[in-house]
Amino acid sequence: MTEGFEGGCFCGSVRYRLRAAPMFVHCCHCRDCQQQTGSGFAINALIETDRVALLSGAPEPVAMRTESGRPHDIHRCPVCKVAVWSDYGRRAGLRFVRVTTLDEPGRLPPDVHIYTRSKLPWVILPQGVPAFEAYYDARKLWPAESLERRRAAFG
Ligand SMILES: [Zn+2]
Ligand SMILES: [Zn+2]
Repeated sequence: MTEGFEGGCFCGSVRYRLRAAPMFVHCCHCRDCQQQTGSGFAINALIETDRVALLSGAPEPVAMRTESGRPHDIHRCPVCKVAVWSDYGRRAGLRFVRVTTLDEPGRLPPDVHIYTRSKLPWVILPQGVPAFEAYYDARKLWPAESLERRRAAFG
C-alpha cells in the first residue's frame, strides 16, 4: 500500500518516503494556500512526522504570517526552495505533506475540500467528496482508524 509513496523537491536534493498512508488528505482553497503555492489550492496529506522518512536533504522551516496568529512553518528545500510540507501550529508530531511533490500524486486524492469560499470559480469540485466553506469537524469525517492514530500521536 505504501510502496511508491516517495517524493521530493524539484531539484532532487530533498527526497522522502511516507511509511504509511496518510490519516487524511486536504485540498485547501484558502487564500493563503493559493498565494503561498502560486496555484489554485494546496493538497496536503496529514501524517505523523515519524512516518515521514527523510531520505536525503534537509528541508528548512520558513515562518509564515497567519491571520489567526497560529504559527505556520513551511518546510522548503534549501536549494530550489520548493515546499515539501507544512507544520501548522508547531505540532512537531504532525506534517502536512504537499501531495503534488509525491512521485505519484494521483494516488492520494483529497478526502475533503476546505475553504471553498475562496475557491477559484472555474475549479469544479468532484461529486461525492465532502466540501466546506471553511474548516470542518475531523471527528465527523475522519475514519475511526485515522482518529485513533491522531489520538495516539497527540493524546
Ligand atoms: Zn489553505
Ligand atoms: Zn530542491
